[in-house]
Amino acid sequence: MSEQKPTILVTGGAGYIGSHAVLALKKAGYPVIILDNLVYGHPELVESVLQVEMVVGDTNDRPLLDKLFSTHNIAAVMHFAAYINVGESVTDPAKYYRNNCVGTLTLLEAMVAHKIDKFVFSSTCATYGYPQQPLLTEDHPQNPINPYGTSKLMVEQMLTDFDIAYNLKSVRFRYFNAAGANPEGLLGEDHSPETHLIPLILFAALGKRDAISIYGTDYPTPDGTCIRDYIHVSDLADAHVLGLEYLLKGGKTEVFNLGNGNGFSVKEVIETAKIVTGKNIKAIECDRRPGDPPLLVGSSAKAKEILGWTPQYADIKQILTDAWRWHQKRHKID
Ligand code: UDP
Repeated sequence: MSEQKPTILVTGGAGYIGSHAVLALKKAGYPVIILDNLVYGHPELVESVLQVEMVVGDTNDRPLLDKLFSTHNIAAVMHFAAYINVGESVTDPAKYYRNNCVGTLTLLEAMVAHKIDKFVFSSTCATYGYPQQPLLTEDHPQNPINPYGTSKLMVEQMLTDFDIAYNLKSVRFRYFNAAGANPEGLLGEDHSPETHLIPLILFAALGKRDAISIYGTDYPTPDGTCIRDYIHVSDLADAHVLGLEYLLKGGKTEVFNLGNGNGFSVKEVIETAKIVTGKNIKAIECDRRPGDPPLLVGSSAKAKEILGWTPQYADIKQILTDAWRWHQKRHKID
């Protein structure tokens, strides 16, 4: 008989990356409980696809967390619940510090009180700021240039201090640009309002918008547009299961980049999307968006070596193909 695996709390499990992680945890045999405030999450996907218990509430709600931790035997927390829009973080930083920092602090304090000492955290390459080298490794200086990146860096600092003071062990994943969708078409990206490049390009391909805006064509890159490292959301999800298992086996606090090590410019992504969708996608050249570094590409050698992580869907065409399948299906249903 196989051993019963411990229960994992996934905050933000009704959201884009969190929902893919819940699916990966379920496939690996872990019982899962979701905590999601449903400001941006999708309860219908939890009900129809994930089929796990969901508590609706906020990470800022300490009485709710106390109740959750006293009534469930939770071994570890995967924390996805956060606001994620770089541009909005510049115009409304209070929203980001309250949710991403204060909410996480409340969650961590509740974990310490209930003796839960394993934490997998969604951090971001936005904590690096302007790159000083073409391929970012985990030891690159962290000087974020937008409040979103700063809010995530603050939590990284909290995690260092909580390990020293309370022995709370964590794995922090610094994601590059999460993209794509579950390859079986079960889950995908659905933000409202949508601000991310790949879904917006595909909305233009679907005719849901007239064109894609290119934010800045005067960056110091070969075609003048920003370069990013797009990483398939299912590969991110698999890394989270590996990170969790590393902690369950007694691993020490660590940080890992998660990217493919290949950069694509905004213009290159648009051109590839034209091939994948077979549609002519109109692009309009616009001013830069505040808070965007020109280039963010990451080395994930450390995650590969220590966690044994192997991305399965590293090709940008595959990422776009899976995203396209999801958006076609999603928008027929709507
Ligand atoms: N971008 C763009 N047009 C859009 C949305 C994004 O040109 O409508 C650019 C953006 O400036 C950045 C890249 O695409 O250089 C990826 O942006 P996204 O918002 O998808 O992710 P982020 O890098 O902010 O996490």
